[in-house]
Amino acid sequence: MVYYALLVGAELDGLTNLQPSRGCDDPNFPYYLKLKCENCGEITAKSTYVTLSEQVDLPKGHGSAHLVQKCKLCGREGTIVMIPGQGTPLTIEQSQKEEKTCLMVFDCRGYEPVEFSFGAGWKAESVHGTPFEIDCSEGEFSEYDEKGECPVELGNLQSTFKVVKKLERGGKTRFA
Ligand SMILES: [Zn+2]
Repeated sequence: MVYYALLVGAELDGLTNLQPSRGCDDPNFPYYLKLKCENCGEITAKSTYVTLSEQVDLPKGHGSAHLVQKCKLCGREGTIVMIPGQGTPLTIEQSQKEEKTCLMVFDCRGYEPVEFSFGAGWKAESVHGTPFEIDCSEGEFSEYDEKGECPVELGNLQSTFKVVKKLERGGKTRFA
């Protein structure tokens, strides 16, 4: 198994705390991924999605996974398990430093995630505290914050997957 952290970045203007609409661990938020088969190298043509609320039981008491899928080319089965509790929203401070934030960690067997699609169902708030619902599928967003009397904008969405290690310390698990 390999653990992959999904890191996202964006240019935020007057906005902060970009995240899925009910948080990084939003049970119904679909994380859209393109996957590469580790056996034959085939990349899935379409993005598949995983959500925390949808799980599949694995055979022979091997627990459950959020995705069980056979490679269309070689037939090898791969699984993905989502690991909640690791994500934090993207803040304007991170954006200004051109840093990314981790939203979710994926435990992948047989597949490597190679692309993430943002899609709809995001939220952020203005630096004056006004909440905004955001559809990231267009890659940009602009609105006017009535309360702060200033425009707010989002653009230049970026994402990458980083291989991370599981670290256990004092009964707490984190990935870095
Ligand atoms: Zn394959």
